[in-house]
Amino acid sequence: MKFEKSKENHIYFTLKHKDCVCPHCKAITNKVHDYRTSIIKDSPIMGKSTFLHYRKRRYHCDSCNRHFTEPFSLLPKNCRLTTRLCFEAIHLLKSSLNVLTVASQLGISVSSIFRRLRDIKHQKPKTLPLVLSIDEFKGNSGGNKYHSILTAPKEHKVFDILPSRTQYRLEEYLRDFSNCKDVRYFVMDMYKVYKDIAQRLLPNATIVINKFHVVKQVTGATERVRIRIQKQMHPSKRKYFKRSRKLILAHKDKLNKENLEALEVMLQQSNDLAQAYYLKELFYDFMDSKSSSETKPKLRKFINAVSVSELAEFNSVLTTLANWAKYILNNFDYPYTTGYTEGMNNKIKVIKRNAYGYRNFENFRNRIMLSCDTI
Ligand SMILES: [Zn+2]
Repeated sequence: MKFEKSKENHIYFTLKHKDCVCPHCKAITNKVHDYRTSIIKDSPIMGKSTFLHYRKRRYHCDSCNRHFTEPFSLLPKNCRLTTRLCFEAIHLLKSSLNVLTVASQLGISVSSIFRRLRDIKHQKPKTLPLVLSIDEFKGNSGGNKYHSILTAPKEHKVFDILPSRTQYRLEEYLRDFSNCKDVRYFVMDMYKVYKDIAQRLLPNATIVINKFHVVKQVTGATERVRIRIQKQMHPSKRKYFKRSRKLILAHKDKLNKENLEALEVMLQQSNDLAQAYYLKELFYDFMDSKSSSETKPKLRKFINAVSVSELAEFNSVLTTLANWAKYILNNFDYPYTTGYTEGMNNKIKVIKRNAYGYRNFENFRNRIMLSCDTI
């Protein structure tokens, strides 16, 4: 082995001459046919690009009269990068580093990185988990604006990434599994397509909706009332509405005496605002239910109060509850939320931003599966 000192590392080597098994006829031979040199990129050494000049030996097999190249495990077939460099690239891609950074750190091209990504064939899982969660994300790759992410929240694993979120595609995907009946919980946000799919294909699954999606609707309705009132307010009264958003949406227990007084003055300015505030507090109380036996009467109390209030801003909340209450209540009985899925969705956003988008869906999917460490 020869080692040169320069800006790059160049290592010249041949493997030991030995007996080899002919891959064609399995006979043993050590007869050399010829040598050919390949230049292979290896992992950087001391920050310098490293090239292996490998003098490849080809053997001749007397029994079948054919030639073959000696086996060498450090080098994948038809690849100009060593296996360990490929592994290093894959390892770095598990982080949310962008592909350009990984390429320049290892001194390889972006296209070889994408080739490596394509080489990782992520197989479709064989069985569905007991708890399955679904969400969508904007991916803009492979001609689809939205993709779906399926996770197994109990195992903290990304289950799969699908190119689309349409009912047809999702059903086609799920139908392939022979254990659809084993899925006991389906955790999702309020998207009718998901509910229809679960009801059709996952016969034993209890649908669980993340209650925080409803909280957003309630705080949104409260906010709309506050904005309407503030706009109508006489300028002389606006001084009472400093920090109004924060004070109105905060949990009442978390406000100090001074804040409570400011809130009181604010609510005295408008009956609608006081009502919206009361509804929000009723809802927070429902959310804080300690046991599932408390939830139903508290939710009923909230729904009745909204109906009586006639605040148009809360109509959408009533519609949501009419359609989804049953599944929202499941939140209090089962410990599964969309939290893990949403966390992964945020990770995907970082990957996408760092890669300036992925046009090829398979590359994008592989990168996500790698970063989420499921391979
Ligand atoms: Zn042979």
